[in-house]
Amino acid sequence: MTIGWRFDNTYSKLPNTFKEEVKPTPVNKPEIAIINYDLAKKLNLDFSKINSKDLAQIFSGNLLPDETKTIAQAYAGHQFGHFTMLGDGRAVLLGEHLVNKNDRFDIQFKGSGKTSFSRRGDGRAALGPMLREYMISEAIHALNIPTTRSLAVVKTGEEIVREELLQGAILTRVASSHIRVGTFQYIAAKQNIKDLKILVDYTIDRHYPEIKSSDNKILDLLNLVMDKQCQLVVNWMSVGFIHGVMNTDNMAISGETIDYGPCAFMDQYDPKTVFSSIDQFGRYSFENQPRITKWNLARFAECIVNLIDSDEDKAIKVVTETINNFEKIYENKWLNMMRNKLGLFGEDKNDKKLILDLLDWMKNNKADYTNTFCYLMKTNNTEDQIFEDKNFKKWQECWYKRLKINNTPEEKYFDLMRSINPNVIPRNHKVEEALKAANENNFEPFHNLLKVLKSPYNSNADLSEYQKPAPFTDEKYQTFCGT
Ligand code: AMP
Ligand code: MG
Repeated sequence: MTIGWRFDNTYSKLPNTFKEEVKPTPVNKPEIAIINYDLAKKLNLDFSKINSKDLAQIFSGNLLPDETKTIAQAYAGHQFGHFTMLGDGRAVLLGEHLVNKNDRFDIQFKGSGKTSFSRRGDGRAALGPMLREYMISEAIHALNIPTTRSLAVVKTGEEIVREELLQGAILTRVASSHIRVGTFQYIAAKQNIKDLKILVDYTIDRHYPEIKSSDNKILDLLNLVMDKQCQLVVNWMSVGFIHGVMNTDNMAISGETIDYGPCAFMDQYDPKTVFSSIDQFGRYSFENQPRITKWNLARFAECIVNLIDSDEDKAIKVVTETINNFEKIYENKWLNMMRNKLGLFGEDKNDKKLILDLLDWMKNNKADYTNTFCYLMKTNNTEDQIFEDKNFKKWQECWYKRLKINNTPEEKYFDLMRSINPNVIPRNHKVEEALKAANENNFEPFHNLLKVLKSPYNSNADLSEYQKPAPFTDEKYQTFCGT
């Protein structure tokens, strides 16, 4: 029964410190909840000769492809600032599927049973959170933001115990790799320099082959990872995405968004927005995300600093200087991103003020972040009185003046804006509505929402149902860790 897997398992050949060999725990009565046929096609997988029962056997881990050597990966992490040795406690890596010689993807089951890293956990995942990861990761992908993706969710036919009994599920995650900042922290904590060098070389081979023969490859690696993660957080800020648990174990070295737990998109613009119920002090709030990215990068730098120069003081100095470039790189990328959101070509000395004035207005008037840009680029179908505000009109005058500086034709700046400002985001109330129905075995709202989220930059369809913010309530929207 072949669906076209071509596994080549380089990670499982790394020394034992890096992983534990473990098989997924078979499940009772697997049943497909959703399959991502678009992604399957991109991976050269063919499900046409297989029935849904067998597909469920495959994506539950009950039926493992011959050429896999399943492992749980070891990693550590600063969780809300506290260092812990972790590892895949409820996931197994099947291996790397080769789409062609240069396109290698990790295929991982999440929710597949206990491993030696499970600590007190049951190794399982619930249907709601796995469908949530599926939905949001596919939405982030469609927004052109680097991310792991979701190939399938299978219901296990077993109940799992949380605060209540929930349906168990397994997600198949596809990633360019699962190497995290926390992977480096784990290996560095073991204080075996040979293993650390192996991890560095493996990472460079896999993600940054262009620096393979550089004389300065450790510093180059730090700079490249910094650039990738900085770009990632700028992308999140662009669409109002709040990751929610930016622990170092949830930051991929590839620069992909990974581990969708209590993440959500901001509706009303408030830089202090936090959705996660476990984030009591706002460590991972919207506005803190860049600062935390830098903090995480500093933890990454600590792991590799000793490889940079045998002279420790010199190594620390150069690494510190490098990390301290973060603000400058971020500010530059962020300004350019915001210029694009406003259709501004070229640079003007007042751009930053213009941008901050708009954000201030949004904050003070509780304006919807996504819909404000839709209003400016004229793609929102919902009329909103808020834009009649005289301060907004005043700001708009300044914006028009700035647009005219370069004599840019209207179509050109609208094109730019429409290529970066989404018309739809996964609004919290729509996501909850879809998940609730799916839990009751009605997948129609889930598929409808997913379909809309797959073309966020398309403004031709009637999207008003998906553009409206949630009806007003006093209750704060909260998301819970996907455990
Ligand atoms: P996360 O919050 O999903 O990033 O997970 C943090 C750590 O807890 C990782 O090492 C996970 O593997 C582990 N973990 C989360 N949920 C479970 C579970 N139900 N059983 C075992 N380990 C878990
Ligand atoms: Mg995690």
